[in-house]
Amino acid sequence: MIKTDVLVVGAGPVGLFAVHQLGIIGLKAEVVDNLDKIGGQCIELYPDKPIYDIPGIPECTGKELTKSLLEQIKPFQTNFHLNERVQTVSKEKENWRITTNKNKIFIAPNIIIAGGVGSFEPRKFPTKDIEKFENKSIFYSVKDKNYFKNKKVCIFGGGDSALDWAIELSKISEVTLVHRRNEFRGTVHSVAKVKKLKKEGKIKIKTPFQINSIEGKNSISEITIKDENNKIEKIKADYVLGFFGLIMKLGPIAEWGLNLDRKTIPVNTENFQTNKKGIFAIGDICTYPGKLRLILSGFHEGALAARACFKLARPNEKYRFEFTTTSKSIKEKLGIKTND
Ligand SMILES: Cc1cc2nc3c(=O)[nH]c(=O)nc-3n(C[C@H](O)[C@H](O)[C@H](O)COP(=O)(O)OP(=O)(O)OC[C@H]3O[C@@H](n4cnc5c(N)ncnc54)[C@H](O)[C@@H]3O)c2cc1C
Repeated sequence: MIKTDVLVVGAGPVGLFAVHQLGIIGLKAEVVDNLDKIGGQCIELYPDKPIYDIPGIPECTGKELTKSLLEQIKPFQTNFHLNERVQTVSKEKENWRITTNKNKIFIAPNIIIAGGVGSFEPRKFPTKDIEKFENKSIFYSVKDKNYFKNKKVCIFGGGDSALDWAIELSKISEVTLVHRRNEFRGTVHSVAKVKKLKKEGKIKIKTPFQINSIEGKNSISEITIKDENNKIEKIKADYVLGFFGLIMKLGPIAEWGLNLDRKTIPVNTENFQTNKKGIFAIGDICTYPGKLRLILSGFHEGALAARACFKLARPNEKYRFEFTTTSKSIKEKLGIKTND
C-alpha cells in the first residue's frame, strides 16, 4: 500500500508538469501510466515531430519535450508505475483508495487525472477464444526479446512496430511476417530491409494474409492464415506477436461516478476539480467552455489543480503564493543552493 499526497494518473506532458507544480509547493506525487514509457502522446504518437508552441521553446520534438519535463522534476524523485492501469476508486475516510490492474493500492487525499485521450491499449486479434494464450504465447508488445530466442515467431502487422520487430527478431529467431495487404506501411528503410532479409532467406513473408485460427490447449499447436480468397495455409509457430496499433480507451475511469461529457471529464475551471472532491482532471481529458487541447493549456490546468490539492493534503497549513525566482523554500525543494 502506497500513501502519497497526490496520485497522478497519466505520465503525458501534462501529468509530468503537474508533478513539478506539486513538488514546488511541497506535495509528494506518485504517477501511474498504462504505457511502458513516459511521455504520453508526445512519445507514443510523435516522438520525432517538432512542436512549435511550447512557451519559450521555439522548437522541440515530442521526445525532447518529455526529456526536459523529466529533467525539471528530477529533484522530486518521483516514482513512476508504468505498465499499470488504474482500475477502481473508493472513499476511505478523508482519502481515496485507488487500485491498479496489478493490484497495487494507493491511498491519497487527491487524484489528478491527466489521462489524455484515455489509456493506450493494443488493438487485439479479432479471433475467438484466444485470450488464454495472451501473455503466454500471444503478445502485443515485446518486453524481452530473448524470450523468443531460437523459437518460431509469427509476427502480424504492416506498420513500423511489426517491421522493426521482424528485423530485430530475425537475428535470433525463425520469423514469419504476415500482413493483410501486399504493401507495408512502415518507413521506406524498414520495408527495404525486410525485403532484403526475405531475399536472403532470413525471414518468411506472407501477404496478403490474415489470421484465421489459433489452435492449442495450453500452448499454440497450430495457426492458420487465410488470403483474400479464403485460401487457408498452416504456419508453425511457438509464439505469435500482433502489432495492429493502439486504441485509446477511457477504460475503468468511466466507472468512477464522475460526470462525463462523451469521453471527457467536465471540470470547474477555478481548480480543475471534477464533481468529486479531491479528484481533478487536467489536460486533454478535461473539458470546460473554451477548452483548447494544447499542452500549454494543460500546464496551466496542472498549476491550479496542484494548489487545490494542497488544501486537502495539508488541511492545517495555509498555502502561500510564491514566485520560483524569489522563494527560498521553493529553491530548497529544487535543490538550488542560495547565498541567503
Ligand atoms: C500528431 C500530434 C501532434 C500534436 N502536436 C501538438 C502541438 O504541436 N502542440 C500542442 O500543444 N499539442 C499537440 N498535440 C496534442 C498534445 O499531444 C496533447 O494535447 C497532449 O499530449 C495532452 O497531454 P496529456 O498529458 O493531457 O495526455 P497524453 O499525452 O494523452 O497522456 C496521457 C497518459 O495517460 C495514460 N493513461 C490514460 N488513462 C490511464 C489509466 N486509466 N491508467 C493509467 N494510465 C492512463 C496514457 O497511457 C497516457 O500515457 C499533438 C497531438 C498529436 C497526436
